Amino acid sequence: MSETYDAMVVGAGPAGSYLAYRLAKLGYKVLVFERRPKVGDAVCCTGIVGKECLDRFPIANDTPAVQANSATFYAPSGESLSLRKETAQAYVVDRAAFDNALARRAQDEGAEYLMSARVNDLVLFDHRVRADVELGGRTGNFEGKVAVISTGFGASLPGKLGLGKISDFVLGAQAEVDIKGVDEVEIYMGQSIAPGFFAWLVPTTSGRGLAGLLTRRDPPSYLKNFLSKLHEQGKIASTDVECNYGGIPLRPLSRTYRDRVVVVGDAAGQVKPTTGGGVYYGMLCADIAADTIHEALCADDFSAERLADYEQRWKRILAKEIQIGYLARRFYEKLSDSQIEHIFGIIQADRIHEDLLRSPDFSFDWHGDAILRVLGHRTMARTIWRMAKSLLPL
Ligand SMILES: Cc1cc2nc3c(=O)[nH]c(=O)nc-3n(C[C@H](O)[C@H](O)[C@H](O)COP(=O)(O)OP(=O)(O)OC[C@H]3O[C@@H](n4cnc5c(N)ncnc54)[C@H](O)[C@@H]3O)c2cc1C
Repeated sequence: MSETYDAMVVGAGPAGSYLAYRLAKLGYKVLVFERRPKVGDAVCCTGIVGKECLDRFPIANDTPAVQANSATFYAPSGESLSLRKETAQAYVVDRAAFDNALARRAQDEGAEYLMSARVNDLVLFDHRVRADVELGGRTGNFEGKVAVISTGFGASLPGKLGLGKISDFVLGAQAEVDIKGVDEVEIYMGQSIAPGFFAWLVPTTSGRGLAGLLTRRDPPSYLKNFLSKLHEQGKIASTDVECNYGGIPLRPLSRTYRDRVVVVGDAAGQVKPTTGGGVYYGMLCADIAADTIHEALCADDFSAERLADYEQRWKRILAKEIQIGYLARRFYEKLSDSQIEHIFGIIQADRIHEDLLRSPDFSFDWHGDAILRVLGHRTMARTIWRMAKSLLPL
């Protein structure tokens, strides 16, 4: 049996590596397990993070990040609406480089990383937690005082530990493409493109970009159609590209802690349901989890009562935001193309987008207040209310 770690972190995505960094910096003995051979391998993500995220969690200077201060939205008819700010609102980061920078920082503080190490089980004892790990065909056991599940979407460990399952999710599909003449983020809406959700074309670096979409069904077919459409419009050079797929939780786990265990990031469902972005919320929650674990280690108390503090703290910051975003998302999902067009028309006629851009509620990362502000416009509120009455069982 190996030595006992203060904390074992399962999964080296942004949430896991940031948490490992925080704890290692505080002087704790931290072990990170990553099932892939390399950090950032096969990651499926567009890498758009708000300025607030990079201000709060600065990345290494050598991590590529492209500034984004505008986006054009396309209604199903092709009608467009541009949102533009003078200052940067968001950045497009290279996710593999971002994850590597975070892992490097954790390692520099002394965190140990075990690669090609899949944790199959976490077994709880009175005085420790044991990780049962598959290491390239062999198995091994490691022990810690506390374990963090940061395994991303589709995590089975929370369920095995009685913490429940993510109850709603969407599928994402994306391809890296050669782009032509596109220099800002483009968002496409409509039932035939990405039913209930949206598709995107995002320039990354020198003539390259990411084209992708979210959908509840058949992501390969929808992505193929979307790529053909972009190709027909001359925006991408070829449709013969490799496609990647991933899941995105839309609702949080009902419980994100128990004795000796906390769950963070996508594994906990800490994601914006409006856009599916989860990097920032996952890191915010990892920060909170690091504080709670630090307090638990100081007190040598890993009871569920103490670790409940983590959930109370992250829910205080995110629960309302996620709930409003989820309701807005469910409503949007039910809209027909003509209803989307109608809402688009009201936004343009009443210049609601300009009001939003000017308002202090406008934020890349916090959508609750912006949604409420849009509903504060009389014509919009009346229209949404009429649509909601016909669409939802009110
Ligand atoms: C198509 C698409 C586009 C997206 N675009 C954006 C975007 O632009 N901006 C944004 O903020 N978010 C985006 N997201 C969401 C974002 O990718 C996730 O929110 C983010 O990766 C979550 O980070 P995480 O650390 O919780 O999990 P992950 O990044 O998924 O990391 C989990 C890690 O755990 C490892 N792991 C899993 N199981 C085990 C195990 N049993 N043992 C050991 N290791 C394990 C995995 O290999 C992985 O490395 C997108 C998602 C998709 C699908």
